[in-house]
Amino acid sequence: MNIFAENLARLRSGIPEHVKVVAVSKTQPPGIILKAYAAGQRCFGENKAQELINKAPLLPSDIEWHFIGHLQTNKVKQIIPYVTMIHSVDSLKLLREINRYAAMAHKRIRCLLQFHIATEETKYGLSYEEAAEILKTPDLEMLDHVEIAGVMGMATFTDDKEIVTAEFHTLHQIFHQLKSSFFTGNEGFKELSMGMSDDYQVAVREGSTIIRVGSILFGARV
Ligand SMILES: *Cc1c(COP(=O)(O)O)cnc(C)c1O
Repeated sequence: MNIFAENLARLRSGIPEHVKVVAVSKTQPPGIILKAYAAGQRCFGENKAQELINKAPLLPSDIEWHFIGHLQTNKVKQIIPYVTMIHSVDSLKLLREINRYAAMAHKRIRCLLQFHIATEETKYGLSYEEAAEILKTPDLEMLDHVEIAGVMGMATFTDDKEIVTAEFHTLHQIFHQLKSSFFTGNEGFKELSMGMSDDYQVAVREGSTIIRVGSILFGARV
């Protein structure tokens, strides 16, 4: 068994079956990703457009690529051929751009709204009010090559589990509030992308449906 397979088996044994694992493969070369693929992993996450478009064509086409990093509108075109889900939608402009290129590619891209839940200034993301503004857009239904599938957030980088718990709890509340205000009866709005290697256990306890984990599977990044 390869190391990735051992790490994945250990991770999976500690989380519920319905929780999806995105293996964050940023900085990992294609050969390492292939070993993870051989261990059965099909879902990988990248946070830089250039890195994704360099690596994806070299790897099996049944890999499900998730884009998890900050995305500039001028990079959307390049990543659309590869991605299944974009976790980091933080503006209407970006959503429109994703829709535009997804339409040209005859794809429908699942998108998550990224929220700012951490105390750090540097983390990207929307406030509830900003998200509500986007979701009130009159012609939003016209964007039929994107599906708003849920929310994403990153907790503060801290060892204080109480802070992390509170932040993930906040994201779950935001999810429920959005669901009842904008997505009643919409089965597609169901994902909570929260939790990384250091805080996925807290995230899963707080209702995460997708965890984005890199170092716990691949080992520490160099
Ligand atoms: C790098 C990254 C992760 C994974 O980080 P690990 O600590 O290696 O698990 C998750 N989400 C985002 C947005 C990232 O950039």
